[in-house]
Amino acid sequence: MDLGIKGRKAIVGAASKGLGKGSAMALAEEGVDLVINARGAEALEATAREIRQKTGVKVTAIAADITTPEGRKAILAACPEPDILVTNAGGPPPGNFRTDDRARWMAALEAQLLGHVEMITAVIDGMAARNFGRIVNITSASVKMPVPNLGLSTAARMALTGFCATICREVVHKNVVINNLLPGPFDTDRLRSSSVFAAQQTGRDFETIYAERMAQNPTKRFGTAEEFGKVCAFLCSTHVGFMVAQNLLMDGGHYPGNF
Ligand code: NAP
Repeated sequence: MDLGIKGRKAIVGAASKGLGKGSAMALAEEGVDLVINARGAEALEATAREIRQKTGVKVTAIAADITTPEGRKAILAACPEPDILVTNAGGPPPGNFRTDDRARWMAALEAQLLGHVEMITAVIDGMAARNFGRIVNITSASVKMPVPNLGLSTAARMALTGFCATICREVVHKNVVINNLLPGPFDTDRLRSSSVFAAQQTGRDFETIYAERMAQNPTKRFGTAEEFGKVCAFLCSTHVGFMVAQNLLMDGGHYPGNF
């Protein structure tokens, strides 16, 4: 299927590794020029090189913290008029809510809500004026099914979900749509670090916890960043103009519901 986005321009946040990288690669395979971002310049440059070599698209790498105003400014300066925005940032650290002080709350809200709101606000009217825009928020399966010790992350992402469900109705008649892609367990650094946290909390070893998590999934495996990226690219395609503010769970069937 031709996704109809060849020659478009995309910003993909937090994309040197994991799900952001998978999404950037899949968009590049469709002929989309990219501005990608992460804090660590070395891994980011390596990813940019890999994408350029594999796909031939233009890739601009902006090493910056996307949770800061300066970081977002640098990203937007490199691509002031994107056709596609994939919002993403590192997930807030897991923790017991009793020790989540105001500083941890504000950091989580900045990373998973306010920063994304600012990026969306900066680009959405331009998308509407040009009659094309696709915004995909990488949120989490925890929006649908709460995960122990991820209260900060879930609360911030649910607020982003509510914000986008509200504003998207103002621009959809201009062919600008926002959808959310909700990852379950994907084999990335993030998943490994949450298994390390569970090991520290329980005194059990990391390998056992990691293997158990895999066995608990109906697929008996973790998802890959590549398969996540392909679905993200589809959500950025011309074909989703009538699919608005949906929350698409990608979790290997872990969520035990009919809807
Ligand atoms: P990952 O493999 O750990 O990759 C995180 C990427 O984000 C890296 O490129 C990292 O590079 C970058 N990053 C982190 N903080 C950043 C910041 N402040 N500014 C710019 N870039 C930043 O994580 P992932 O698994 O792809 O997760 C992506 C998102 O999905 C996260 O919000 C995560 O919580 C969520 N999620 C993941 C899973 C899963 O199973 N993997 C499940 C549910 C939700 P630098 O460190 O160099 O900045």
